[in-house]
Amino acid sequence: MSLLERPDGPHREIAVALAPYGERARVIGVTGAPGVGKSTTTSALVRHLRRRGERVGVIAVDPSSPFSGGALLGDRIRMQEHATDPAVYVRSMAARGHLGGLAVATPAVLRLLDAAGFDTVLIETVGVGQSEVEVAGTADTVLVLLAPGSGDAVQVAKAGLLEVGDVYAVNKADRDGAEAVVKELRQVLGVVPRAAADWARPVVRTVATTDEGIPDLLAALDAHAAWAGRSGELARRREARAAREIAALALAHLTRSAVPELDGQQPLTELARRVVAGELDPWTAADLLLAARAD
Ligand code: GDP
Repeated sequence: MSLLERPDGPHREIAVALAPYGERARVIGVTGAPGVGKSTTTSALVRHLRRRGERVGVIAVDPSSPFSGGALLGDRIRMQEHATDPAVYVRSMAARGHLGGLAVATPAVLRLLDAAGFDTVLIETVGVGQSEVEVAGTADTVLVLLAPGSGDAVQVAKAGLLEVGDVYAVNKADRDGAEAVVKELRQVLGVVPRAAADWARPVVRTVATTDEGIPDLLAALDAHAAWAGRSGELARRREARAAREIAALALAHLTRSAVPELDGQQPLTELARRVVAGELDPWTAADLLLAARAD
């Protein structure tokens, strides 16, 4: 995994070696505004999956740092109940600094955990930026969390989470205002068109700190997995994930060959100077750059 995280790591060799393992692990994305209880809920879900005897991987996508090494958020406090369990693996992954971005890095890490025999992998996004929403969208099932106070339905709508969610949990149901959030969410979900006509997105109430509602939440996640398998949605999502990965790799390759060093290199610098001087428009400059590379 460390090799996969290095920009100059043997990415291709690892990908070739892992290809025959196929995709067996079930991938659950967990997203929502900071503070709604993603870590606590993820940890509770891990506990229940462990009781079933599953091996569980957790990838925490950290938007803040280009470095990771797994130490930064890897030993996240609320995951510590699983720290000594050899069948649970927790890893932080930086959102930035990967060749081809998270569209390439996430599936590569998933494949590795899959080949290592993990039954379920939870991808927990720390922020709700566009890349985090995209990462969550690469999962087989996407869980969106809300809580009274932070992360109401309108915020969730603004963050684009109503389009990606398959299962919704209103966490901190022990707090005032939880019922209002449930009602508001149901209303908003009624207006936003469903991605799939025959999957009614469930809304589950949870108190992650006391485990209340977590069995119901897991049942809802299981129901989605069963439906996705039956309906062909699972295959469609996995193919879309692979397609994004291939496209991102091809694009990274094209970028490297068209613009080998973005900064301070001819002929890009010269073209930039001419655009600034008003001698060229950037479109023509781009044509000239591509023509120069083709020569
Ligand atoms: P994250 O930022 O979304 O990962 O949220 P955390 O899991 O770190 O939780 C943020 C805070 O909310 C922590 O202090 C948790 O103990 C607390 N918390 C999480 N779930 C619940 C809950 O169901 N009820 C209450 N009252 N507090 C909760």
